[in-house]
Amino acid sequence: MSTDRTDCLFCRIVAGDVPATVVATTDRAVAFRDIDPRAPLHVLVVPREHHPDVVALAAADPALLADVVALGRQVAEAEAGGQFRLVFNTGPEAGQSVEHVHGHVLGGTRLGWSPG
Ligand code: AMP
Repeated sequence: MSTDRTDCLFCRIVAGDVPATVVATTDRAVAFRDIDPRAPLHVLVVPREHHPDVVALAAADPALLADVVALGRQVAEAEAGGQFRLVFNTGPEAGQSVEHVHGHVLGGTRLGWSPG
């Protein structure tokens, strides 16, 4: 997969072409604050490489998916006592609006459950 797609918002954030509040990085993944937070902790974890969604990433490079999950855990350890929800919206019907796989790391409060 390409690593720097000019038509992809999260590729542009990873490249530093679009500003974001980056909270942690590895050589293969980046964590930055969601621009519209839904919880006290709401960070997006993304691979630097472009993959459209979590299913594609899991098929193409499961070790990279593991890196993304580990980065989410690292952020949650630092900011929310290590407890967190990790959500990968997959497809527009499920609420995916950016076609570069991203995990929502949510925490910092007791989270309710609502599928809507
Ligand atoms: P999803 O709807 O699951 O695709 O999640 C996309 C998320 O990206 C949403 O929660 C948006 O608030 C967030 N978002 C969109 N643009 C930006 C941006 N420039 N910086 C940080 N987060 C963003």
